Amino acid sequence: MTDNKNINMQDVWQQDKDHYIHPWTDFSTFKETGSMILTDSDNVHVTDGEGRKYLDGIGGLWCVNIGYARKEMAEAIAEQIMKIPYYSSFGHHTTIPAAQLAAKLAELAPGNLNHVFYGCGGSVANDTAVRMIHFYFNQLGKKSKKKIISRIDGYHGSTYMAMSITGVKFDHIGFDIEEELVHHISCPNPYRRPAEQSLEEFCDEKVQELEDKILELGPDNVAVFFAEPIMGAGGVIVPPKGYHKRTLDVCHKYDVLYVSDEVVTAFGRLGHMFASEDEFGIVPDMITCAKGLTSGYLPLGATIISEKIYDVISKPQADGALFTHGYTYSGHPVSCAAGIKNIEIMERENICGHVKDMGAYFEEQVKSLIDLPIVGDVRGRKFMMCIENVANKETKELINPDAKVGNRIADHCQARGLIVRPLAHMNVLSPPLTLTKEHIDFLVATLRESIEATMADLK
Ligand code: PLP
Repeated sequence: MTDNKNINMQDVWQQDKDHYIHPWTDFSTFKETGSMILTDSDNVHVTDGEGRKYLDGIGGLWCVNIGYARKEMAEAIAEQIMKIPYYSSFGHHTTIPAAQLAAKLAELAPGNLNHVFYGCGGSVANDTAVRMIHFYFNQLGKKSKKKIISRIDGYHGSTYMAMSITGVKFDHIGFDIEEELVHHISCPNPYRRPAEQSLEEFCDEKVQELEDKILELGPDNVAVFFAEPIMGAGGVIVPPKGYHKRTLDVCHKYDVLYVSDEVVTAFGRLGHMFASEDEFGIVPDMITCAKGLTSGYLPLGATIISEKIYDVISKPQADGALFTHGYTYSGHPVSCAAGIKNIEIMERENICGHVKDMGAYFEEQVKSLIDLPIVGDVRGRKFMMCIENVANKETKELINPDAKVGNRIADHCQARGLIVRPLAHMNVLSPPLTLTKEHIDFLVATLRESIEATMADLK
């Protein structure tokens, strides 16, 4: 534990409330309640400014794969700072960690995804994918191939382009998005399919919808399809069996690139370094990743691309075009050193193996909550799960939004020493991957109690 005794938490609370614009915040409640201050952490627990300890059921925000407060991470980061804390990699400069991590990612990524571009998070990794793909088709002389297809309830980030690709309609309210380039198709959510439709028919319909959209926009105008292997922030939606492979085939039939957004699913959350191939059997044209790449210890994102795309974008360009894309912090040596150490820890401790065992137990235990009267669906895989609360399990009718059921459950959990994420009427779980059986038993028992307490509130 760090020593915070000289810090007045009331002052911090006030400074935060007066001056810090929080991301993704409901200001009406924020202005009343201010923030919960997190001061310390250890493995799967965090501590607040009043010394209360919580099991963190969400890994901060789909992060902290190797657990909190790893001394080795602090040492690797400090060591790199004392060697060289920063250098730009524009043009022909590099640093040891940037080069070594790129080679490691090329080794771990599926197929011939062998080339890595760095940014500082997931949104930027997806923006980079768009710019690279446009550049790629321009260089091939296919200048009309620009349009982007993504899914309703897909989440791809919060920069202008990444938010336009995002299909969570709630997130667009009050903002503008790019509507000329980006087109959404429906969400492959098996829970919300019509009652009479089989999973196979549902899958056929969703795959056909992608093909129809490409044909409607014109294959010569469509550049890319963006898809998360499991849709995270949209409610942990696992598409039906065969969907990934069949949508990839449709894309390739029309020379449309497939970007697998693995910002959440990579680095162990499903028991693999990358889920696209190992969990779902596809090798996309690009993978974007962030979060688990450093376990969130430092900001870093990566866009990993195939040999085919690299060959085109790295050729001398006839019209004099240079690859004018990059950020001051692309390949930041300290973030890359954190990435290398994080992957080293994951491999040495066989975190993916642990997730295959303990994640399976977690999934089974969380799924046991389905017997509760307001739990309509429990879905996800391993350490990526979601509980959907409903008013009627038969009709799947939603609970009145004014009841804020997701928030209520999260509040009850918090009062009992557990953090879960409310997402409208749902609750999402994405804990550190180091969770043990005892942690899981506590988490699931607390969640059950909190859902029961919420049911009593709603009576
Ligand atoms: N893509 C996915 C699938 C995500 O879940 C997120 C963030 O949660 C992002 C992209 C955006 O990442 P960042 O917030 O690091 O920009």
